[in-house]
Amino acid sequence: MSQLKLNHYIDGAYAAPLKNQYLDNVNPAKGEVYSQVASGTSEDVELAYKAASKAFPAWSTTPAEDKFKILNRIAELIDESNERFAEAESLDQGKPVWLAKNEMKRAAQNFRFFATGQMHFASESHAMEKGTINYTLRKPLGVVACISPWNLPLYLFSWKIAPALAAGNCVIAKPSEFTPYTANLLGEICTKAGLPAGVLNIVQGLGQHVGEALVTHEDIKAISFTGGTATGKRIASIAAPMFKKLSLELGGKNPNIVFDDCDLDKAIETSVKSSFLNQGEICLCGSRILVQKGIYERFKERFVEKVNALNVGPPKNKDSFLGAIVSEPHYKKVLGYIEMAKEEGGQLLTGGMSLHPKGHEKGFYIAPTVIEGLKAKARCNLEEIFGPVVSIMPFETEEEALTIANGADYGLACTIWTNHLERAHRMANKIQTGIVWINCWLLRDLRTPFGGTKSSGVGREGGWEALRFFTEPKNVCIQVNLNKP
Ligand code: NAD
Repeated sequence: MSQLKLNHYIDGAYAAPLKNQYLDNVNPAKGEVYSQVASGTSEDVELAYKAASKAFPAWSTTPAEDKFKILNRIAELIDESNERFAEAESLDQGKPVWLAKNEMKRAAQNFRFFATGQMHFASESHAMEKGTINYTLRKPLGVVACISPWNLPLYLFSWKIAPALAAGNCVIAKPSEFTPYTANLLGEICTKAGLPAGVLNIVQGLGQHVGEALVTHEDIKAISFTGGTATGKRIASIAAPMFKKLSLELGGKNPNIVFDDCDLDKAIETSVKSSFLNQGEICLCGSRILVQKGIYERFKERFVEKVNALNVGPPKNKDSFLGAIVSEPHYKKVLGYIEMAKEEGGQLLTGGMSLHPKGHEKGFYIAPTVIEGLKAKARCNLEEIFGPVVSIMPFETEEEALTIANGADYGLACTIWTNHLERAHRMANKIQTGIVWINCWLLRDLRTPFGGTKSSGVGREGGWEALRFFTEPKNVCIQVNLNKP
């Protein structure tokens, strides 16, 4: 039987790659190739660009209400196909199907949110003295590129595409070569929803081919990228001298700081999730757990006990909390970091090995791993592992917690557990991250600015931030002679 082929979606239809080359696409739960994904080239990107630029004049002037109907219909259709999408996402990524179902709902929400958001998007006006008024026009940029990673594939893909389209741009989007399936299905949904041909084009393939072709393309006006910091640096080095607009959402090494005055039950329960949800492959996972000395032993014992109770297994099993790691190279990278942690003097409190569930022996499973005894400046405490591995460290004072937390190059997110009102605000003020959660984790309001500082990126997504990114402001200053009749 011939294998499923995941092609590009260009100009409103599925299209085989011009060079007819495909990549093997692996199901990480079984370690087996299950489909072929188009390996795009700059020629495919050019075809997508032509379609997008042809569609731009009509789409950029489409009334807000018509855009709303189409984008909202896309959201409805994703919801109607929740199970199909979730199974495809899990097959590609290795995450449990139950988790993928929630994420597919969030992907639909992204379209719904920006479908509505663009109806309320208002530009500013500033009145000066003597009858002078400034007003700001915000125009779509033109053809823009959205490049996304493999960890939350459709969720992050739609988090970029939805605002870009809502703001009136035409888009060429590239999902990760490791997780192309739901992006591929999105094409079908867009056609069904009545999105005009060429408004969204999806080009599949490798970062160094399709990704770079998008970044180096002279007429693509903006790059919205989520992925690794090294890739972000490369993209910035190419795109910045071309004066492209850039939004870079990069890696993280997020501190999860537990003070001894916190609600310990809630802190432990949430920390298990913030450490291991999606196999720890969420940029917002708290991979450095700092616990104040007074509760360190109690926290550690109860945390490890709960981690030991987590099920790791095939994504289709309802009781699997962790599924498989996304790919063999990433699986090896994570196991390599566990070895490094031991060499750096870390002790394993639990986990630390690969697992081989029955019937899935060739899959890429790793037990949730907790390490203690690493120095704050150990490589495993500074570099992003992006897997089910956390390091736990004691601290004494607020200042010490801050020094350790801010000691990494990354600055994406942080969680603070405390019932001390002033301490919570003090910490939030001084911590060098773009996002701070106090006594919670991963609660997301789509209106808030999302993104990081330092090596975690440049720019913000979400709400008005995203709609502003995808538009070009133009200030118009007009003086009216108030004295003439
Ligand atoms: P990656 O950087 O390897 O790839 C991301 C995307 O960029 C993929 O589509 C890839 O094909 C493409 N790409 C690769 N090289 C390219 C190039 N030279 N030019 C253009 N595109 C290129 O990242 P990944 O391994 O897919 O994802 C994991 C990383 O993403 C982690 O570091 C994680 O923290 C980060 N991430 C960040 C956020 C955030 O919001 N800050 C969210 C999710 C994931």
